[in-house]
Amino acid sequence: MATAPSDPNRVAPVGQPHEDPAAAVCPPADLAPAVILRPSWWATFCAPYRFIFQPRRAAATMVAGPRWAAWLALGVGIILIVCLTVGATLWSKTVTVEWDAASDAAGLPIPILQERSLEEAWAQWRGESAAAAAVRALLYGGIPVLLSAAFMAWLQLPRVHRSGRTGASLLRAFFGVVSGIGLLVLLVALLGAVGAVVQNNQDRQMGAASVAMLPEVFSFVVALGYFAAVLGLIFWVECACVGARDSGPTGSPSPRCERCGYDLTHVPASGRCPECGTDVQAMLVPGMRRPGCSWEESPGALTWRDASLALLFRPSSFYARLQVWTSDTMARRFAAWHYIVLFVGATLWGNLVAWRMWGAMSTLWSAVVVYALVIPLSCLLAGWGIQRLLAAVVGSVWLVGGTMPDFRPIWKVLSYETAYLWVFVVYDGLLMTSLFLFGDWMSALVVSITGTTTFRGVPESLAVLLGNGVLCALWLWRYRLACDAVRWANF
Ligand SMILES: [Zn+2]
Repeated sequence: MATAPSDPNRVAPVGQPHEDPAAAVCPPADLAPAVILRPSWWATFCAPYRFIFQPRRAAATMVAGPRWAAWLALGVGIILIVCLTVGATLWSKTVTVEWDAASDAAGLPIPILQERSLEEAWAQWRGESAAAAAVRALLYGGIPVLLSAAFMAWLQLPRVHRSGRTGASLLRAFFGVVSGIGLLVLLVALLGAVGAVVQNNQDRQMGAASVAMLPEVFSFVVALGYFAAVLGLIFWVECACVGARDSGPTGSPSPRCERCGYDLTHVPASGRCPECGTDVQAMLVPGMRRPGCSWEESPGALTWRDASLALLFRPSSFYARLQVWTSDTMARRFAAWHYIVLFVGATLWGNLVAWRMWGAMSTLWSAVVVYALVIPLSCLLAGWGIQRLLAAVVGSVWLVGGTMPDFRPIWKVLSYETAYLWVFVVYDGLLMTSLFLFGDWMSALVVSITGTTTFRGVPESLAVLLGNGVLCALWLWRYRLACDAVRWANF
């Protein structure tokens, strides 16, 4: 493919609306979040708590405000999280069980219940020096929070970056993620308290059987709480990073030849591309080369299905027809629908497999926790993780190579590619179902052919690793196709 002309004077600055009359056919894009005036340091500092249920607003405020105030909010958040964690740990240590070395008649060690006050637990926890204990707690608490936020920021980078310096975009993504620290503080407080109550109750029961057991719902809350907290934070960050995008001037760059990227600003609309000879008019008249996607014009179950099938089987043609300089709200809604359908499907699958494998669960709560929530939510988490990870790898390669002059068209691609998750669902779903129903049938097959049991378990591992590896490689290839199709898009 020929590259864009090297004369910098011919290339209009990225992000500027068209000035050439022939180029005025491109509609102004509505891609930026609501512009937020520069907030005060106090508003920036409070944003993670004030907008605890408005992720986009919290992120937009954190990103737009003074940087030092955002760092201060992060620092105070980490201190709060560490204090709450230590508090919950001390509370759970007020009741402990120790095992007597002398055993009872049956030869089992005897549990001895130990109750102590909060001050005693604190004195024991801090040890010799309170300052050293505080530093230790800050390191143990702060480093994981910072590392997770940095990793999440990298995952979200292709969804936040627009153009310009990568470092600035990475910092935007980082503070977009960090604006969720208010929610994290709330979750640590809630889960820490419930966890300590349940732990103390269990210890009391073990030490003295006369203590009544807490209702089962408490164990349910603890078992599911940590999982739900992780998913809730991820959902929050996904929303927040849309608010962390650059809200600078909107509009698509100067008109380009969609085939080779040649700048068409000074080429007559009736002519042909000087580089590759493609008809210019077809590329600059709205709706001719890029009629758009029916899902975006009339969203509904049928258009959603049609768009998904087109994406799965003809990705190049789908992206060549998609209008990429319009708002990506509908694309994100498309992805959300996929995640909802995935969740429902995984719930049904989890229940079917469970019913076939183990029959009814012992209690209603455990059935609800395991099959209706843990299995489908794990599937969602795995799907989201692989999608964002591959997108971050591809996005980083594009950023380093300067492949995409402007990332806004990619925002839509990232959302529409959610449809490809179904390929993983079909492959892994069939594989797992066959393993659940028929045991290690692959190993049995290999044993029957080779006559040796050396390779028992290997075929199953290979099927999981190699199969998913091939699907991931295919996904990278799809991103390449999508990039070729939207890189020089005019609409
Ligand atoms: Zn061309």
